[in-house]
Amino acid sequence: MVQYGSEVFQNYSLPQQFAKKGIATAKTVAEAQREIKVIRETDVIVVGGGPGGIAAAVAAARGGAKTILLERYGHLGGMSTGGLVNIIPNLSDIYGEQWIGGFCQEVLDRLAARGAACFPEKCYWGKSETSVVDTYLKANMMHFYIRKNREGKYVVLYTAVIDPEVAKDEMNTMVLETGAELLLHSWVTAPIMDGKTVKGVIVESKSGRQALLGKVVIDCTGDGDLLPGTGTETTAYMLPGTRIAQFGFVYWICNVDLKRYDDFMNSEPEKYAEVSAKISSLGGSVRFSSGLLRHQEGVVWIHRLIGSLHQTDVEEMTYIDVKTRKESVRNWELLRAYMPGFERSFIMLSAPQLGTSGGRRIVGEYFLTAKDMDTDEPFDDTIAIFADNDRGELSLRYPRTYIPYRALVPKETEGLLVACRAFSADHDFSEFFNLIPHCMCFGQAAGTAAAIAVRDGVAVRNVNFTAVRNALLTQGVILP
Ligand SMILES: Cc1cc2nc3c(=O)[nH]c(=O)nc-3n(C[C@H](O)[C@H](O)[C@H](O)COP(=O)(O)OP(=O)(O)OC[C@H]3O[C@@H](n4cnc5c(N)ncnc54)[C@H](O)[C@@H]3O)c2cc1C
Repeated sequence: MVQYGSEVFQNYSLPQQFAKKGIATAKTVAEAQREIKVIRETDVIVVGGGPGGIAAAVAAARGGAKTILLERYGHLGGMSTGGLVNIIPNLSDIYGEQWIGGFCQEVLDRLAARGAACFPEKCYWGKSETSVVDTYLKANMMHFYIRKNREGKYVVLYTAVIDPEVAKDEMNTMVLETGAELLLHSWVTAPIMDGKTVKGVIVESKSGRQALLGKVVIDCTGDGDLLPGTGTETTAYMLPGTRIAQFGFVYWICNVDLKRYDDFMNSEPEKYAEVSAKISSLGGSVRFSSGLLRHQEGVVWIHRLIGSLHQTDVEEMTYIDVKTRKESVRNWELLRAYMPGFERSFIMLSAPQLGTSGGRRIVGEYFLTAKDMDTDEPFDDTIAIFADNDRGELSLRYPRTYIPYRALVPKETEGLLVACRAFSADHDFSEFFNLIPHCMCFGQAAGTAAAIAVRDGVAVRNVNFTAVRNALLTQGVILP
């Protein structure tokens, strides 16, 4: 069986040590008070157009709320497109049962219809068909597609890969066809507060500093950018060396002759080991995954992970970006120089946005912790069920995890929901359940609840949960 490199995605590292300037002086300046133009008054404002944000905007608009989506970059999709982390994993559990449907499934269906998503056929989920298992092992996608079942056999998960460029276009269409408004290139810098209630947001763009007012604001920035300005309780605790305590610099090398690479690896294993060792000794690595989409033949993906406990610190982000870019280009130069198959390759693209895995999280009405993974009990206000595939023996025992609506609701702040990886969870829980499909589920639930709360004229905290549940069920969300 051919296997490229080793399990690239489990190569987590400890936080980087480097000298930071930090806060250089104790000086402050007073910002002059000024009137800011209100550019929109609306029902629901969604901040951030990543997996959480697009789901929230689509759900709120479909629910009848006047909705606007604000995104700092020129494209939607967040990490799933601009971060080049285009794998949508854990849609089924180890036993082959699908748990994430709804908006996420809709995105995949629409992309698959354009040849821009691929996943194993349903008949293989939870099964150990050798030819299918081998496909994912060969692509070095074991971490996302393959688990061991109770009998110790490799089985296939329902996981998808999407084409990020087609996804950006499809996501624009999905948002706009609901009637929601979209403003790209709009960086939201602060909430507008009236006591403990969020009334809108301040946005900075080439058009200047402007304000938007809304009945509900949904923070889908990934990092919970609005939270500090609300005074609500947050945590950013992470364990060094874990998945969430990593930045990722992702890049694609294309025009790789994988057949030549394979032939070399299989026919001359000793020489292959020698070349790999040489590349390592010069600071490079031969770890990569190969693109699974048919039209991406000859493309290999490299996820350079690098430890960090401060993923919203601009000094640290700058240091990591400069360092990993240098290392990545050097890595490709070494592959091109020494590894058969890479002679005519080139770096096609490095992710337009630095990969962030963890960061600021809200401490909300319900704070999810490790104990919520080790139970079979759903919540009364369950808004999503996640397949638990990444905890070994514990995943076999507890193959599902439930998410309560309260994990999206701040403790005291009104008019705000959090529907991204900043949802209310501790580091243990976040480690396993802040991925792309999870954030789509948070977004779909938050957008749906926001629209119902606006319709009924109640606070999102007090929304009629039965109405939310029924609406989610009609949208294809799988609930207890
Ligand atoms: C290297 C790496 C590999 C990963 N691999 C996978 C994988 O294969 N599969 C998977 O499911 N998950 C993966 N993840 C995790 C996954 O990418 C994230 O957890 C997920 O994207 C979170 O979605 P989100 O909507 O919370 O945030 P994001 O995807 O970060 O989206 C947030 C959006 O908000 C925008 N935004 C942020 N701040 C503001 C602001 N102030 N104003 C306006 N807009 C703003 C951003 O531009 C972005 O579009 C990976 C993460 C990393 C770092």
